[in-house]
Amino acid sequence: MTTPSHHRADRGTASAMDRVGDALDSLGGTATGPRRAIVDVLVTEDLLQTPEQILAAARVSAPSTSLATVYRTLERLHAAGRVKRATLASGAIGYAYCGGGHHDHAICTRCGRVVPVGACATAAWEAPPGFRAESHELNFYGTCEGCSADPVE
Ligand SMILES: [Zn+2]
Ligand SMILES: [Zn+2]
Ligand SMILES: [Zn+2]
Repeated sequence: MTTPSHHRADRGTASAMDRVGDALDSLGGTATGPRRAIVDVLVTEDLLQTPEQILAAARVSAPSTSLATVYRTLERLHAAGRVKRATLASGAIGYAYCGGGHHDHAICTRCGRVVPVGACATAAWEAPPGFRAESHELNFYGTCEGCSADPVE
């Protein structure tokens, strides 16, 4: 999977810093080098990344990062509602940073880009009689702006 430059979030913006802080806060405890590196990788790309890809990128700044730490950190972030987990076109499970309350997602099946959908699309949904809905997860799968503009290889 490629990660075109137009998908890279600006590391220097306040929002990227806020996302790092928010994700680290949700983990609690001490922000170790590997943990910080994993969070940094997640907030820098608005792309679904596999644990193996996250490991490789995190090791650039924190060489001691292990795959077990990546899985444990992703699990905790997911439980805290800070990461989105979805199946990639390859069948692998990808993870992307996701914060700021409930929203639905548009996912590009070509590059794995994850775009939050502004308004929840299920407002008109009616529960079956007696059913109490507590949550839902809605993904729109398709092709993002950048990939639509690129010719198919
Ligand atoms: Zn999200
Ligand atoms: Zn795309
Ligand atoms: Zn929704």
